[in-house]
Amino acid sequence: MRQSQLLMPTLRESPSEAEAASHQWMLRAGLIRQLAAGIYTYLPLGRRVLRKLEQIVREEMDLAGAQEVLMPAMQPAELWKESGRYEVYGPELMRLRDRHDREFTLGPTHEEVITSLVRGEVSSYRQLPLTLYQIQTKFRDEKRPRYGLLRGREFLMKDAYSFDADWEGLHRSYTSMYEAYHRIFTRCGLYFRSVEADAGSIGGEGGTHEFMALADIGEDTIAVCDSCSYAANLEKAEYGGKEQAASEESSVRDEHEAELVRHHTPNIKTIEQLSQAFELEAAAFIKTLIYAVDGKPVAVVVRGDHEVNEIKVKNKLSAAHVELADQTTAERVTGAPTGFAGPIGLQIPILVDDAVLAMESGIAGANEADYHLGNVKPLIHLSQAAAGDFRNAEAGDHCPRCEEGRLAFHRGIEVGHVFKLGTKYSEALHATYLNASGREQPFIMGCYGIGVSRLLSAVLEQHSDNNGIIWPRAIAPYQVHVVPVSVKDTVQMDLAAHITSRLSEAGVEVLMDDRDERPGVKFKDSDLIGIPLRIVIGKQAAEGIVELKTRKTGEVQQLGLEEALVFAT
Ligand code: ATP
Ligand code: MG
Ligand code: MG
Ligand code: MG
Repeated sequence: MRQSQLLMPTLRESPSEAEAASHQWMLRAGLIRQLAAGIYTYLPLGRRVLRKLEQIVREEMDLAGAQEVLMPAMQPAELWKESGRYEVYGPELMRLRDRHDREFTLGPTHEEVITSLVRGEVSSYRQLPLTLYQIQTKFRDEKRPRYGLLRGREFLMKDAYSFDADWEGLHRSYTSMYEAYHRIFTRCGLYFRSVEADAGSIGGEGGTHEFMALADIGEDTIAVCDSCSYAANLEKAEYGGKEQAASEESSVRDEHEAELVRHHTPNIKTIEQLSQAFELEAAAFIKTLIYAVDGKPVAVVVRGDHEVNEIKVKNKLSAAHVELADQTTAERVTGAPTGFAGPIGLQIPILVDDAVLAMESGIAGANEADYHLGNVKPLIHLSQAAAGDFRNAEAGDHCPRCEEGRLAFHRGIEVGHVFKLGTKYSEALHATYLNASGREQPFIMGCYGIGVSRLLSAVLEQHSDNNGIIWPRAIAPYQVHVVPVSVKDTVQMDLAAHITSRLSEAGVEVLMDDRDERPGVKFKDSDLIGIPLRIVIGKQAAEGIVELKTRKTGEVQQLGLEEALVFAT
């Protein structure tokens, strides 16, 4: 490809709107452009990298025996009503109507669609196991789209769904996906950990793992044992990835999906006491954090990764404790303007013993600059709450698994998630097959997601330096950048063309900088876009000698033509 013809609008300066390194590099290197918040166009370089990632995902999914399909983004709301998620998914679900006033959604995920498909097409245990996947655009009206592709509202996901006759089968399907995920992320050059995510009660004995790219910008905190293989997602942070931003912007974020309960006594020390106080079943604790202000617990955050389970928690609270309060009451009790104006949507103050413990949408006043709670920090993590494991986890604590090693905390970006669903959707949608004795059974399901566009950002968070991107070769938009120093020099240009065609014949993807620019400009752009190997063709072209520069190490070597071609192939 000739660079003079390539739509690759590079920027000299870091765009001010981009906080995350990956976001800055993607804008500066001309990979993406924003259309609206969380909605991006992929320019040619970005599209190429995305395709590389897709291809790796495809190859590994196929190898694991999964079959590719493509499902519609537009889904009848009926299906979502059948599964019960239409009501509970919340404002993240994009909803629309067609010309006949029929309700639709833009799929944030495809459990409903795939379950209804398999319900119609698979009827016998002989057709199982079955794993289907797609790579497709997802829509989630995220409250805070940010960090470029890390949290988009329209993004690319690989989602796979397995159907088995029994739990042993599900375990095999799950393991096969789990292993494929390891291969995928390794091939992409990502530093990652698979961690135990909190399963909650989804699928009962089901399990779930998240794949976390290690990066400071990550919104999750993971605890990793330095001795055994234990690694777990401790906390789904309510605040942004940067501690600093967290304290500056808002101490406690008001994610719609979170239950934020401000507790009025510091006396709750055990899961049992917590359960009693809120009449929750211990098993309902999927992710729980106790926030502390100046060391005193003030807020209990109960949240689930799964909407329905979360809503069960809510309902339980509703039944026991939630009353609608008017704005005055809320303000009187909390001493802060709440912005609460009646029973709208999810903004329900949660009352316990007449005290407002929480606003559904956040600790009251959290959106008012002067009423932030100061110094709010997660104090106690109840990541294993269902197991009664109530720990005040701190870095350096003993590992709960081996009890020998010490825990270290890292920030992570969730790039993948595997989940044993069990019969949750097959039961809700009456998707059954006939077993060997002719009895109708619900499919045992699993679901497996990878944020393909998020993965692109995650790789970039880990692979750049002060001068720009450093692509791992497997996903680089081009593997070799051929840079003739002077395009007016026909000897240089002829050699550049020769090298380009020889490499292309050998299956190497080459970008050739045929722009009439100063060498400094060319080299700067070359560093910025991060192609792994640069071949500079300068004064020694007449002797057939070129200069090779490895982007990652900066290592430079002068080689003759044939040697250079061997090195670059
Ligand atoms: P998060 O916790 O970051 O909101 P999630 O748990 O809601 O993610 P899943 O429902 O598990 O996401 O979706 C599967 C994968 O899709 C995630 O592991 C993540 O890599 C990706 N993903 C989810 N939301 C987004 C988003 N808004 N933008 C980009 N990728 C996303
Ligand atoms: Mg989410
Ligand atoms: Mg998550
Ligand atoms: Mg997830």
